[in-house]
Amino acid sequence: MSTIKYKSWRGWLDIKRREFLKAAATTIVVAATPIAVTSNAQSKDSRKRKRYAMYIDVSKCYGCMACVVACAGENNVPIGGFRTWVERHVKPDGSVIFVPKQCNHCENAPCVHPCPTGATFRREDGLVLVDHDLCIGCGACVEACPYGARYMNPVTGTVDKCTFCDHRLAKGLLPACVEACPTGARVFGDLEEDGELKELVESQPVEVLKSWTGAEPMIFYKGLPKEANR
Ligand code: SF4
Ligand code: SF4
Ligand code: SF4
Repeated sequence: MSTIKYKSWRGWLDIKRREFLKAAATTIVVAATPIAVTSNAQSKDSRKRKRYAMYIDVSKCYGCMACVVACAGENNVPIGGFRTWVERHVKPDGSVIFVPKQCNHCENAPCVHPCPTGATFRREDGLVLVDHDLCIGCGACVEACPYGARYMNPVTGTVDKCTFCDHRLAKGLLPACVEACPTGARVFGDLEEDGELKELVESQPVEVLKSWTGAEPMIFYKGLPKEANR
């Protein structure tokens, strides 16, 4: 043992850890090379970064509310609560336009830091979620959200909002609102993967709500009228 090992317990642990990893790597290469290749590929794939997002084409929305109804049914949204809503705006020329809204799963989410218990958090895949076991219903996040996307659930006494239907994503399903939309106004996907969402967001001008807040929303709109972005 060299003296370095006794400089501090942390330094000693670092050295032991390096020795262990070196020994473990040798064992894996010698004893289990074929398995190591497979499991390495799998773990690499499961660690691949995701950045979930949604695209909404306002020109395709005609305010049928199928998304709102589907969301409420899927997520047990109580009467008086909401996870998504559809705004109706009248443009100066008198035409009516519908704009679906919900939590934007902001990259720099203003609702996260004010939470005193850590109940509101941003997951690695970009979903901003609420841990209902930790939520004390103080409402700090409701106040902090510049989009009015959160509400106090009177049944659970905790804060609720859109989760991008994380329970459905885990089963490989689309969010309920996306599946229910009869016109395809809503498109969901992973911005880190080539696909329809990435193509739509990157191939044309798109807008986010209240970009000046610095929240960096992950819902991208095509054809957003200025009346809906105040
Ligand atoms: Fe938080 Fe509001 Fe952004 Fe959703 S829209 S992540 S609730 S700040
Ligand atoms: Fe509701 Fe799920 Fe759509 Fe969010 S993604 S608005 S929770 S249906
Ligand atoms: Fe608009 Fe589609 Fe929702 Fe109907 S289901 S209100 S068309 S986004």
